[in-house]
Amino acid sequence: MRNIQQYLVSQRAEMIALTEKLVNIDSPSTHLAGIKQVATVLSEKMQSLGMQIRQIDQGKPGMVLVGELAGVKDQAPVILSGHLDTVFPVGTATARPFKVVGDKMLGPGVYDMKAGLVIGLFAIQALQRVSLLKRPLKMIIVSDEEKLHFDSRAAAIMAQEVTGGAYGLNLEGAAKCTQISTHQRGGMIIDITVHGKAAHSGIEPQKGRSAILELADKLPKLAALTDMTQGIHVNCGMISGGISENIIPDRAKVSLGVRFKTEKQRKELLAKIIQLTQEHLVLDTTTEVTVRTKIDSMEETKQVKQLFADLKQTAQRVNLLTLEAVGDSGASDAGIMVTNGVPCLDGVGVVGDGAHTDQEFAKVSSMIERASLLAEFIMEQE
Ligand SMILES: [Zn+2]
Repeated sequence: MRNIQQYLVSQRAEMIALTEKLVNIDSPSTHLAGIKQVATVLSEKMQSLGMQIRQIDQGKPGMVLVGELAGVKDQAPVILSGHLDTVFPVGTATARPFKVVGDKMLGPGVYDMKAGLVIGLFAIQALQRVSLLKRPLKMIIVSDEEKLHFDSRAAAIMAQEVTGGAYGLNLEGAAKCTQISTHQRGGMIIDITVHGKAAHSGIEPQKGRSAILELADKLPKLAALTDMTQGIHVNCGMISGGISENIIPDRAKVSLGVRFKTEKQRKELLAKIIQLTQEHLVLDTTTEVTVRTKIDSMEETKQVKQLFADLKQTAQRVNLLTLEAVGDSGASDAGIMVTNGVPCLDGVGVVGDGAHTDQEFAKVSSMIERASLLAEFIMEQE
């Protein structure tokens, strides 16, 4: 099957041109105009590949772009996923526009992850071109991944869209061409607010109920839920409370940054945190717990291991590369797939480095390597 690789080598200039177009439009997660422009460029490309397009939750950041292709067989679809937003503010693309230096492409969001989207699209194009697509295929692109879908419905929409998928490939970048990500920790941001009763501390302190004292009692107990051997970490990251030295404080709050490896751990941890908040040292105080943000962990399930083993075989044959499974400490949308029963691999996109910095780069050669790998892999999977 030299065809796919040869075809993609012939598409080198087109792949670079599309990457350039995408990188030169600023698309920070909250900038709707830029998000729409990038989505339009992607939609046009998807339509040229014969894909049916849907834009869900249009009109504000958090939009989800879905492109679908029917396969020869009526089976569960392959899911390709990614995000079109970057962390860079408007004006960055003008200040340091896309350029190619040797094998390196530079520009805001080139590695994280606009070149990855191009890889996905050209893998599809190669499959179309050589007419080897068996399963239906669905490409899902979100617009606020860098904000962890905070304050949008994107994560829920994605969970719904991936359900029933055969397997998923998340097009985030990789540090090395031999690395594929098979597991990632998940996270939560949790606010714990203690309500007490205010009173003048000089005149009638006995009438007050100190929210700060109550919270102070809870902090070491919360921190003690950390178990690094299990990949669980609870960080009491921010505290606030009280308004004056002479008032018994009626309110105190801690915001926790929590990390975990599995959905089971997440549920157990949350149950323990809620239980802790129900025990009170200062009588007549109450405590509320709010999960502000949740990022699913990407568990290395049996199915994920199998998917990786299959990709490893393909890579050996196509690129003569021995892939290694790595775990990312950061979270990504791949976790949404695995948590919703769709085995997924992450970091299958462009190879580069320097995400979220002005040193960011991605390798041109890896666009062809990875697009070939993905197209061959999708073709091989029954
Ligand atoms: Zn990313």
